[in-house]
Amino acid sequence: MTSLSDLPLRANLVGKLPYGAPQDPVPISLNVNENTHPIPEGVLTDIVAALTDAVRGVNRYPDREFTELRRALAGYLGFGLAPEHVWAANGSNEVLQQILQAFGGPGRTLLSFTPTYSMYPLLAAGTDTGWIPVERPADYALTPEAVVSALREHRPDIAILCGPNNPTGTPLDREVVLAAYDAFDGILIVDEAYQEFDAERESSIALLPGRHRLLVSRTMSKAFAFAGVRLGYLAADPAVIDALRLVRLPYHLSALTQAAATAAVRHADEMLATVADIRAQRDRLAAALSELGYLVHPSGANFLLVGGFADPEATFEALRAQGILIRNLGIDGHLRITAGTESETTAVIEAIAALGVAGA
Ligand SMILES: *Cc1c(COP(=O)(O)O)cnc(C)c1O
Repeated sequence: MTSLSDLPLRANLVGKLPYGAPQDPVPISLNVNENTHPIPEGVLTDIVAALTDAVRGVNRYPDREFTELRRALAGYLGFGLAPEHVWAANGSNEVLQQILQAFGGPGRTLLSFTPTYSMYPLLAAGTDTGWIPVERPADYALTPEAVVSALREHRPDIAILCGPNNPTGTPLDREVVLAAYDAFDGILIVDEAYQEFDAERESSIALLPGRHRLLVSRTMSKAFAFAGVRLGYLAADPAVIDALRLVRLPYHLSALTQAAATAAVRHADEMLATVADIRAQRDRLAAALSELGYLVHPSGANFLLVGGFADPEATFEALRAQGILIRNLGIDGHLRITAGTESETTAVIEAIAALGVAGA
C-alpha cells in the first residue's frame, strides 16, 4: 500500500499533519467555537427562498464579483465601507490563503504571536511562505512594545494579529494594532473571527482609512451561526482586493453560497440575537470554573482557555465519555471550552465540578 512518505511531496509539507479538530457526533460539541444555537426559523425560510431562486440559475456560472453579497456585507459592517472595500471567500481561511498567495510565497514570511490560530502555520506551509512564530508573554496579552520589537527584528512580509485571539481568548487593544502598522512596511492582517463577541472593543475596520496595508478579516462561522455555509470576508483598501482577484479561482463563491450568505446578512440582527446570551454563558462558565480553583484567562470571544488541569487529556477524555467534546490544544495544564447554550454550559460546569477541584 502506498503511504504519504512514498510520494514526491513538496519539502515544506513533509511531516505536517492536516488540521484535525475531532468531529465526534456527541450531544454537546464545544470544541470548535461554533455558535451552538440554531438559526432563527424566520431567517431560515428566507434563506431557503433565496436558495430556491438561485438553483433556478445554476446552469450559468455565478456572479464572479458577488456584487450583491459585497453590498450586503459592506452595509452590515458600516464604517462607510463601499462594496469595493469588501472581499469574501469560502471561509476566512480561504481569504487568508488568498492573502498569502498574493503577498507571501517562496522567500517571504508570515509572523504571528503564539499560541494562536493553528491554521496560520498550515496556510504558510501550503503557500510556501516562511512561518515566524513569536511567543506571547505568560498572560498572552500583546503590548505595543513587544509587537513593535518583534516586527522590527524579523521584518516579515505579512503579520497576523488575532483579536480576540484563538485559543487564548485574549482581546486585542487598538494601540497594539496601530503600533504594529507603523513598525514595519508589510501587510498587517487583523483576524477578527470573534469580533462580534467583544462588545467592549470597536473593530479595527475603524482604522482602515489611510492605512492601505491593513486588512481586517471576519467570518460568518462564529457569531453568525453559519459555519456550514463557509463564508469569510475581508475589509481592506480596494487595491488589496484587486490583488486578491489575481489569485482567486474564477467563480470561487458558488451561487448557492452567495444566495444563502446574502439572505443571512440581510437578517444580521436576528442572526446575531444569541450573541448576548453566549457572552453571558461564557461569563457564567468563567465564574463557575474560577470558583472551582481553575485559572480562567480573560476572553473577548465565545470560548475560554482554562488552566489548572493536572492532566488535560484525562479531563478531555472523561468529558468525551459523557458526550461533551471540548478541546485539548496541547497547552500545558489547559483546555479550551466553547460557551454554548445555557443547558450545554450547565452540563460542562457540572461535569468539571464532578471531577473535583482544580489541580486534583
Ligand atoms: C474559526 C476561526 C476562523 C474562521 O474560519 P472560517 O474559515 O471562516 O470558518 C478564522 N480565524 C480564527 C482565529 C478562527 O478561530
